[in-house]
Amino acid sequence: MMIEVKELYKSFGELHVLKGIDCEIKEREVVCVIGPSGSGKSTFLRCLNRLEEISSGKVVISGYDVSDPKTDINRMRAEVGMVFQRFNLFPHMTVIENIMLAPMKIRGEARDAAFQKGMELLRKVGLEDKADVYPDNLSGGQMQRVAIARALAMNPKVMLFDEPTSALDPELVGEVLEVMKNLANEGMTMVVVTHEMGFAREVGDRIIFMDRGVIMEEGEPEHIFSNPQNERTKEFLRKVL
Ligand code: ADP
Ligand code: MG
Repeated sequence: MMIEVKELYKSFGELHVLKGIDCEIKEREVVCVIGPSGSGKSTFLRCLNRLEEISSGKVVISGYDVSDPKTDINRMRAEVGMVFQRFNLFPHMTVIENIMLAPMKIRGEARDAAFQKGMELLRKVGLEDKADVYPDNLSGGQMQRVAIARALAMNPKVMLFDEPTSALDPELVGEVLEVMKNLANEGMTMVVVTHEMGFAREVGDRIIFMDRGVIMEEGEPEHIFSNPQNERTKEFLRKVL
């Protein structure tokens, strides 16, 4: 099991955002999380790598018990890659420098090795010709592909994506989804919060429909998209499909 979540609750003061989430995600599984805005999808993802402190329950990811205060969070984070909606590349560093930074600083990798690995990752995301360019000179789609390469530079065991394409112009969405699809095909364990239903259906092994802080329904894409059981799932899909 790559991720185990038991009875996860998360509140911000009086606001109860996650109300008892249970879920298990296996190695190499691609799980797409869908649901209305405000249902707690981002909060759920952020609880997985303790970007948010959980209120109660248990979260184990890549063997690290996130709910245990004694857990070395930095070691855990080195194994859990995350890509956000808005590309958070360092603007004062070139593309390759952005990618080499964490492996050198956190892993202590030698410059040469980090560079070789970085170039290999840029090839993988189709951007080797952009190595020496500053982020300002990239399109949103290219920035997001660099963000994925940068996360992969740490050799993560699992990748978390929070709406990686929703800030992009429509014509740039495809190139990012393509990179994610390749990653899935290579066997990366992935949790993807997305509004791209086509991607979820094609690439997801499992779909989780979240609503108002709970998992309302989950199952194989075929089941969720063609034969949803829950009224809320049906209503949501009617709006987005
Ligand atoms: P989603 O990603 O499904 O749109 P979120 O997890 O971002 O939903 O948000 C769920 C709810 O939690 C929203 O009502 C949001 O305003 C609230 N929320 C999220 N983060 C915080 C925070 N840091 N402080 C207070 N409320 C928050
Ligand atoms: Mg969100």
